[in-house]
Amino acid sequence: MPGKSLNCFASFAIAIPLYRVFDYSIEEHQQVLVGTRYRLPFGQGSRTGLLLATHNSASVQRDRIKAADECLDQLPVLSEHLIALATWMSDYYLQPIGEVLFQCLPRYLRTARHEKPVRVKYWRANTLELELRETIEKRSPRQHQILLAIEQSSCGLNASQLKAVNSNWHGLVRSLEAKKAIRWEWSKPQSTTTTLENLPELNREQADAFSQMESNFGRFSVHLLDGITGSGKTEVYFRLIQNQLDQHRQVIYLVPEIGLTSQLVERVRHRFGEQFAISHSALTERQQYEAWERFRQGEVTIMLGTRSSLFSQSARLGLIIIDEEHDASYKQEDGIRYHARDVAIKRAQMLDIPILLGSATPSLESLNNCQREHYYWYRLSQRPTRYEPPRIQLIDTRNVRKEHGCSPYLLQRIDHHLGQDNQVLLYLNRRGFAPVIMCHECGWQSICRYCDARLTLHQSLNRLLCHHCGFAQPVPSACGECDNTDIRHYGIGTEQLEQGMKKRFPNYPVLRIDRDSITSRDDFARKMGALRQGGPCLLIGTQMIAKGHDYPAITMSAILDADQALFSASYRASERLVQTAFQVSGRSGRGDQAGEAYLQTDFPDHPLMQALANQDYRKIADTITRERKMLGFPPYARVVMFRADALSLRQATEKLDEIKHCLAASTTRHQVKCIGPIPALMTRRIGRYRAQLCLIGPDTHKLRSVLRESMPAIESIKSTQKVKWVVDVDALDL
Ligand code: ADP
Ligand code: ZN
Ligand code: ZN
Repeated sequence: MPGKSLNCFASFAIAIPLYRVFDYSIEEHQQVLVGTRYRLPFGQGSRTGLLLATHNSASVQRDRIKAADECLDQLPVLSEHLIALATWMSDYYLQPIGEVLFQCLPRYLRTARHEKPVRVKYWRANTLELELRETIEKRSPRQHQILLAIEQSSCGLNASQLKAVNSNWHGLVRSLEAKKAIRWEWSKPQSTTTTLENLPELNREQADAFSQMESNFGRFSVHLLDGITGSGKTEVYFRLIQNQLDQHRQVIYLVPEIGLTSQLVERVRHRFGEQFAISHSALTERQQYEAWERFRQGEVTIMLGTRSSLFSQSARLGLIIIDEEHDASYKQEDGIRYHARDVAIKRAQMLDIPILLGSATPSLESLNNCQREHYYWYRLSQRPTRYEPPRIQLIDTRNVRKEHGCSPYLLQRIDHHLGQDNQVLLYLNRRGFAPVIMCHECGWQSICRYCDARLTLHQSLNRLLCHHCGFAQPVPSACGECDNTDIRHYGIGTEQLEQGMKKRFPNYPVLRIDRDSITSRDDFARKMGALRQGGPCLLIGTQMIAKGHDYPAITMSAILDADQALFSASYRASERLVQTAFQVSGRSGRGDQAGEAYLQTDFPDHPLMQALANQDYRKIADTITRERKMLGFPPYARVVMFRADALSLRQATEKLDEIKHCLAASTTRHQVKCIGPIPALMTRRIGRYRAQLCLIGPDTHKLRSVLRESMPAIESIKSTQKVKWVVDVDALDL
């Protein structure tokens, strides 16, 4: 067209907390691709933007529009499908589109970095003269060990694999290279042919579930594999993954915590060779990006990762698996708030592919969806190994003198199991030495300076720590109130339990696994390795050990202190307690011996404790679900929570009052309940006061209507450094 300028316009998403996109002009002579990143002038500086659409918008004032700087990518970093998914998330979770889109990228690409080709060095063995081999074997056993490991793998070993063989691999590999015993090359791992010979034959239930799933796999469908601990769910996942691989499709396999589930990584490697990438938050940004890139390029076919791996790109995604789907870590609680399970279901729907959820203790939401026949439901009620998971036995701790947190009867059982050369698991979800520091004279307690929370005594550090904000102070020598020096500690944490057990059972190894005792993956691997060696051992841990491990030598598990859950203000506390109880008890008796499971309580007559002792998970889940129905709580209602925090409670509350004001007309019209603003459960946290405003309604459509009508006004209420507010759709806690 004559007179038309060479420029066109484009809208960009920028990762800032504003609910809008930004227009810039771009030069038309180059190829313009949706999903590529540009450097954009913004305010005084520059920002990275993601190109969403081009247009010849007349509505934009040409003289005011700025020109985009360079394009950072040759190819889109986000596919149109992921942009559509992010757009849905932004709409459903009421989060700013720019922030959601950038959250879908690996961290490495969220800034203006150029993409880098990902190449991985693989070391391979040369054919060795016998003489050289013998010299290496005799003179440098550690080099020899590396050499053997390389020779044993068909496609060579990369840095992280070598590191697993010997953490000082670098020097050893150098020496071997100098001797010409090995060489490296840039290479893609070849898809290894897996050893399909020794696969266990699926039992009846597994085979039924597998074949029924298969027959519904041609399209979008949600499947819940509801199988007791150790019933062989993972084996079913593996078969389904293999089928996808046979059809040259890719699979996303999400687990709650992978840095730690090294056992699963080993299992996947054993089965699928090097055809998978791993991604989790303990890796560097660069490593996460490499995993993302290798999956995107189709170099690997399985993405095994935590929550954010859900956003891995793939042109031929065939299946999403979410293991331990009930796990709370799938809900992101800061930044962009979303539930990875629910977003995964949406993604599967958009791609018209199946999604598989698995758990021994499925969430009430998922069970409810099965009952309403929205999901396919498969149950595995037996273990392929000989023994069923043990029934939970209550130990009444009223009127007994506990030693190191254990009742005499529990100690006797521990003694018995260790004496039989077996392993025992003690679960105590409280780290540190003691949770309460108190003046014996006046009852004063040591409270965090910045939070409404008690400080925990950490004896090894000789400090009191706040588990919410990290505040630390020396152990006080006198009461903060009355100067009395008789300061005592009460309650028991894992640190104290470990000391006590070492004293009580000096002839057995005691391993503690919690965030304080495990500072690296190597730590964890070492301890878990010791455990897998077999032999008697006492394992103490927090929720870190309740997840996803299979230790055949554990024949007894005990939950030491679960009573707080009975009095928690959270309506989800009972669901969580029950899930934990079944997960922990399910760790024992997986091998060739029956297991025992105990739970100590001061309230053995409490209906929930009675249920734990006498009913299976599904029965208890039914009861809790009925209660929720009566109370009008999820899964029978949807919750949208507005949260505000400020330097004073008044400011936080005022902000929520403003929001409530914007909602008022709509909530009345649609008869949706609006509760608050009220102070949050822990009102003061990290020095800020927190309040909340809750929308709750049984009818999702009405709730959505309220939000659709009110959000434009609410979005214009600014969040400032002084008073921040966020919205949390499908909030887990009230
Ligand atoms: P889950 O994932 O339900 O906890 P796993 O898949 O880890 O269960 O299986 C528990 C144990 O039983 C594992 O050691 C696994 O190798 C073994 N197993 C699973 N399926 C079978 C089977 N069909 N025959 C024999 N052993 C099996
Ligand atoms: Zn005092
Ligand atoms: Zn604190």
